[in-house]
Amino acid sequence: MKYSQFFIPTLREAPGDAVVASHKLMLRSGMIRRLANGLFAYLPLGLRSLRKLERIIREEMDAAGALEVKPTVVVPGELWKESGRWDTMGQALLRVKNRLNGDFVVSPTAEEALTSLLRDDLSSYKQLPLNLYQINTKYRDEVRPRYGVMRGREFIMKDAYSFHTDDASLDETYQEMGRAYRRIFRRAGLSVIPVRADSGAMGGSGSEEFMVESGIGDNTLILCRACAYAANVEKAACKPDFTALSPAAAKEAAASLPPPGRIDTPDVKSIADLCAFLKTDSNNFIKTLVYRADNIEADGLPAGGGTSSGFFAVLIRGDLEVNETKLAALLRASEVNLAEDTDVERLTGAPVGFAGPLGLKGLTIVADETVSAMTGAVTGALARDAHYQNVAFGRDFTPDIVADIRTVTAGDRCPICGGELYEKKGNELGHIFKLGYKYTKSMKVSFLDADGKSRTPLMGCYGIGLDRTLAAVIEEHHDQAGIIWPVSLAPFEALVVPVKYEGAAGEAADKLYAELARLGVDTLLDDRRERAGVKFNDADLTGIPFRVVIGDKNLASRPPLVELKRRGQGEARLVGLAEAAAVIAREIRTELAELDGAGGRG
Ligand code: ATP
Ligand code: MG
Repeated sequence: MKYSQFFIPTLREAPGDAVVASHKLMLRSGMIRRLANGLFAYLPLGLRSLRKLERIIREEMDAAGALEVKPTVVVPGELWKESGRWDTMGQALLRVKNRLNGDFVVSPTAEEALTSLLRDDLSSYKQLPLNLYQINTKYRDEVRPRYGVMRGREFIMKDAYSFHTDDASLDETYQEMGRAYRRIFRRAGLSVIPVRADSGAMGGSGSEEFMVESGIGDNTLILCRACAYAANVEKAACKPDFTALSPAAAKEAAASLPPPGRIDTPDVKSIADLCAFLKTDSNNFIKTLVYRADNIEADGLPAGGGTSSGFFAVLIRGDLEVNETKLAALLRASEVNLAEDTDVERLTGAPVGFAGPLGLKGLTIVADETVSAMTGAVTGALARDAHYQNVAFGRDFTPDIVADIRTVTAGDRCPICGGELYEKKGNELGHIFKLGYKYTKSMKVSFLDADGKSRTPLMGCYGIGLDRTLAAVIEEHHDQAGIIWPVSLAPFEALVVPVKYEGAAGEAADKLYAELARLGVDTLLDDRRERAGVKFNDADLTGIPFRVVIGDKNLASRPPLVELKRRGQGEARLVGLAEAAAVIAREIRTELAELDGAGGRG
């Protein structure tokens, strides 16, 4: 491709709203342009990299046995009503009406579309397992699109959906997708951290997210200094720092403890104030919070149009925070939120800050495991300016549910090896998930098993955001001057820059360009009548890996020489004009092989 015939509108400065490197560089190098908040168009240069990423993903999905389909982006609202997500998806779901007043959805994800696609043609267990994927446009009406294509409203996702007769088969595909994802990210030149993730009501080990470390990441990762444990904070567990007791054992342990005593605590507002007032530590305090849970599911089915909501009293040791993702998963709710003050007053008979389990009526009590080790604790007394002392789990109150709902933080101990846990910020690029029966049940998919019995298939889903992945590659591979593409995703692999595109240099450039093309190297020839400085700046900005500069002086030596430079690496070196194409082709092969990983697929 000749530069003069291509379209690379580079910018000296990025617009002020671009604050992260990838966003700035994608705009400045002429990869993308902004149309509106969260809406970006790819220009020819950007599209080349996007297509290369798409190709890598397609190759790995195909190699893993997934089959590509092309469903529609606009989907009947009816399907989303069947699954229940028409009501639970909230504002992110773009609902549109057609001219006949019919409801439609612009796909933010495609569980419904693919489940519906399959159910009409699925009859026998012999058709399973089946893993279908697409690489297609998605739309999410994000509240706050930001960082360019990292969080856009319209974006491209590779999403795969697998269907199975049993758990073992689901697990096999889930593991295979995990391996394919590791290969995809490695080939893209990314260092990803696979972490355990929330799998909603599914529980278990049914969800993994692929994260890149990032100062601007929306996710907190909990990692172990001593072993490979890595989890999203939403899911992270830790080694207990308490001794859990059954209610009966706790009751026995509290035998010698005086009964709960009510104390006046006027003007004591915070836990810190209370600790100072009672000369005790926050970990001797049982925090009681009232939560509202929405869209609670029963038996994996949305319970009637999002009408099933409820309030819960949630207890946790005073030095800890409730993990709302764990709580929602435990209650099988789509969402949990702290109750409004007025609801707290109505339900506990006291203003916010004085709730406690003793004498609490009409609310299901959920306690974190830490509470099951507490005797002689302090709680609110369900009355303004009053608390109880000497409260004991098992003796004075028994929660309805005891589970791990704490937020793990740096300094807690690893649940696997006991090592110290620490935190990192991360950005999610991909997500694999065992969905179980969630959609196949609600959307009534069935097949006949070997005995002719009708059964519901299990399902998994697997997503990668292409735009976000591309941006993450730039975040990881750039310098002051611009992008430093890994060859696998570079818009062009080589750039031929004659200092002046005329005379001997022009001829040599044409010849080298032809030779590179013959060797299959994706090459851009900078034939512009621009100053060398302008050409070099653009070369650095667009980040094409191999740059060959052809100048009269080096051409005049015998044999004629050219300058070869790998973007991002030290100095240029002189190579013979005659060998240059072969050298570049070889180095590209070497780099691609390195990205592929020495062992190839594995
Ligand atoms: P996030 O928590 O960042 O909003 P998510 O968990 O909602 O993402 P998934 O539903 O798991 O995302 O979608 C799969 C992948 O799609 C994500 O891992 C991410 O790479 C990509 N993705 C999701 N939302 C966006 C977006 N608004 N812009 C660009 N890519 C996105
Ligand atoms: Mg996700």
